[in-house]
Amino acid sequence: MKIVLFDIDGTLVKAGGAGSRALDKAVKELYGAEGVCARVSWQGCTDTENFALVYRYATGKKPTARQFRALELKYLSLLPAEVERSRKTGDYRKLAGVEKLLAELSRRKDVMIGLGTGNLKTGALIKLAPSGMLKYFAFGGYGCDSAVRSELLKKAVERAEKLAGAVIRPGEVYVIGDTHRDVEAAKAAGYHCAAVLDGFGDENAVLRSGAELVTRNFSDLEPWLVWLGLENDPKGVRRGTYVCPDSPIEHAHFGRTGMDLKAIDDGLIKLRKLKSGRKGRS
Ligand SMILES: [Mg+2]
Repeated sequence: MKIVLFDIDGTLVKAGGAGSRALDKAVKELYGAEGVCARVSWQGCTDTENFALVYRYATGKKPTARQFRALELKYLSLLPAEVERSRKTGDYRKLAGVEKLLAELSRRKDVMIGLGTGNLKTGALIKLAPSGMLKYFAFGGYGCDSAVRSELLKKAVERAEKLAGAVIRPGEVYVIGDTHRDVEAAKAAGYHCAAVLDGFGDENAVLRSGAELVTRNFSDLEPWLVWLGLENDPKGVRRGTYVCPDSPIEHAHFGRTGMDLKAIDDGLIKLRKLKSGRKGRS
């Protein structure tokens, strides 16, 4: 079974700033501070991180659990109108080709599609609803599961395991995002990672993040299907048209095998263990 986890903002859709407008309004209504979101660099942060930061900018303090919940609820109550506003002004957009990829993946019995997003679950559903793409997602990991991105990805995989009734190995999980933080989180969890450049990520940071695949968007599905191991690479490589290798050795190795260097490290550790075991027995 392959699990493909999609980030929302900048990967599935661009909501035209609806999230930051709703949060700005919530902060203004609750604490009277204006324009605090302009001071926040969102870049793949979870809502939990963003809300804590915004609260601190507005009040100079750390929120208690109750204050945090009040901010969340206010934000969620304002978000639908802001998403609708973006939709009406034409600023709400789907990433090019992403719906085609979702339709393609949803046809396959060996693939499960989920969300891996820093949005609160309710916020995620509100942001995705106008896209008509909610129907593709039966599960996910959200900003309300953890403030740490790699942890919320693991939560999504746990839910996929329950739905599939099977154990999912990290090598079967593919994370797609638009910022270096998406890539870092996927790597920290031991999952495959790929990124698009048409989202909200800093392009240089994304290119340097060591994602296995980086493309502008999803308008050409072939590299995506090759990366997911669902189509053969015409060049004969099992997967991995990957941009910006960390070193020439990695590049050559990946080109030959489609494996990253961690696989080599793991292999060496295993080999050493085997050798020392043999010595012990002789
Ligand atoms: Mg994003």
